[in-house]
Amino acid sequence: MMVVISGPSGVGKSTVVHELLERIPGACFSISATTRPSTRADRPGKDYHFLSAEEFQRHVDAGDFLEHAVYAGNRYGTLIAPIREQLAQSRIVILDIDVQGGVQIHNKMRDALAIFILPPSNEALLERLRSRKRESEEIIQMRYREARREIEQAHSSGAYNEFVINDDLERAITEIESIVANEQARRSQLNTG
Ligand code: ADP
Ligand code: 5GP
Repeated sequence: MMVVISGPSGVGKSTVVHELLERIPGACFSISATTRPSTRADRPGKDYHFLSAEEFQRHVDAGDFLEHAVYAGNRYGTLIAPIREQLAQSRIVILDIDVQGGVQIHNKMRDALAIFILPPSNEALLERLRSRKRESEEIIQMRYREARREIEQAHSSGAYNEFVINDDLERAITEIESIVANEQARRSQLNTG
């Protein structure tokens, strides 16, 4: 089963996904390709495949991406091959992708479970973006401006099955765990019944 996790930058997606990978048996992470420069916090080959613009374009031309998009001036994409392999092994594949990607997946893979994470408030979102000390204030402001557009698009697109507020981290993770477990149970009933 594919589980798409989206939400504005800084809402806590990476934190949540990291925990889900620890807690959900059989879960694995879809490692995206990106042209964004690697930061201190990134583990190349684990969090992302960091590619040059030329390498990324070669994958686009070869049709290797299930979806790809431009976010805050950089390209991001999901490679098809590893996902196919993991789905064939009945793994739960977790994707951390933006709304444009979520919409593309929704149109191509109707049975993906898509969850959008919301911040408790705009102020909390800005605070979280700043708290990770990852980007310059200019980039933080760009990501913050993008957030409102993304949240609106997530609601209007119809691509998301569930909206979860990441207020208290543990509460939000537990809610997502139970959404995934319920969906798994529903699907196994469909298969046996
Ligand atoms: P994203 O992957 O969505 O950009 P991150 O996972 O990097 O976001 O989280 C951004 C910052 O917010 C991090 O410093 C993280 O520790 C913090 N954070 C995540 N969830 C919460 C929460 N529920 N309450 C407070 N801070 C949080
Ligand atoms: P970041 O630079 O903070 O790691 O990611 C920026 C945004 O790009 C986030 O919203 C993240 O979910 C999204 N993203 C990461 N990988 C992909 C991908 O493969 N496809 C798409 N469409 N978005 C991605």
